[in-house]
Amino acid sequence: EKTPVTMLGLGAMGTALARTWLAAGHPLTVWNRTPARAAALAAEGARVADTAAEAVAANTLIVVCLLDDTSVDEVLAGTDLADRDLVNLTTSTPAQARARAEWARERGAHYLDGGIMAVPPMIGVPEAGGYVFYSGSRGLFERHQETLAVPVGTTYVGEDAGFAALHDVALLSAMYGMFAGAAHAFALIRKEDIDPASLAPLLVDWLVAMAPAVHQTADHLRSGDYTNGVVSNLAMQVAGTPTFLSTAEEQGVSPQLLSPYFELMRRRLAEGSGEEDLTGVIDLLVH
Ligand code: NDP
Repeated sequence: EKTPVTMLGLGAMGTALARTWLAAGHPLTVWNRTPARAAALAAEGARVADTAAEAVAANTLIVVCLLDDTSVDEVLAGTDLADRDLVNLTTSTPAQARARAEWARERGAHYLDGGIMAVPPMIGVPEAGGYVFYSGSRGLFERHQETLAVPVGTTYVGEDAGFAALHDVALLSAMYGMFAGAAHAFALIRKEDIDPASLAPLLVDWLVAMAPAVHQTADHLRSGDYTNGVVSNLAMQVAGTPTFLSTAEEQGVSPQLLSPYFELMRRRLAEGSGEEDLTGVIDLLVH
């Protein structure tokens, strides 16, 4: 017997998740504020509840995937969550997730928070490599891991309900740094007779080759010694920054994406850290 699932929220993501449980033979009850969005799933065999309260009453495992934390408040108000296993896949901040965990505890529910590292087309496609960070109740996670793994992979990161959101935002923040760097690179060649499609694969290979440097950063943070095994030291890298800024100027490109990072590198060097790598920048960011 497959575990029955209740799914609240049938947006792009909720619908993609729900469909995989149906396809895998899990009895599924769904509810969405705009009922029309449930029609396709109903045709595939889902039971459509008239209210969120009815959907919550139908099953023990309740999965929520709504727009934001405020919509979670609105949808779950007036539902009876006693003894429910509540899994909230709505994107939130760590503090919102911790508050939601406490809120659920007060209502007698077990709580697991999730941060989805996938876009809807990756759901139900294991080879796409998507997964969800989970944090909060370990018991809930272990009880339902098999069911939760149906749509996409699962990565449990701890009992602190805020840790899933924190991991999610940490990875996406690094992604934006990467996109910012790629934006600058494309801007540099924008006015030249260079095909962006010829730069793209070079860019991808270089970023992939450099990405493992984060392992050394982690080693340095753990040991507190930021000089161990350094290949390109900070003094050398800061000495190179005028080349980057002058090239941007020559190409008529704003340095605004690069400058803040260079500024932190210079500040760290000024503290006498020339033999380190770039790890010291992290200490300047944390107050
Ligand atoms: P959509 O905009 O497609 O769907 C939003 C859902 O929230 C709909 O079901 C909508 O209902 C519902 N909703 C919004 N406000 C309210 C409210 N006040 N009361 C009741 N229901 C409400 O978003 P997604 O499905 O794409 O995203 C859902 C969550 O998943 C978000 O937290 C998002 O950050 C996260 N996520 C999404 C990804 C993506 O690529 N799509 C990737 C990773 C995470 P209605 O149909 O009535 O409008």
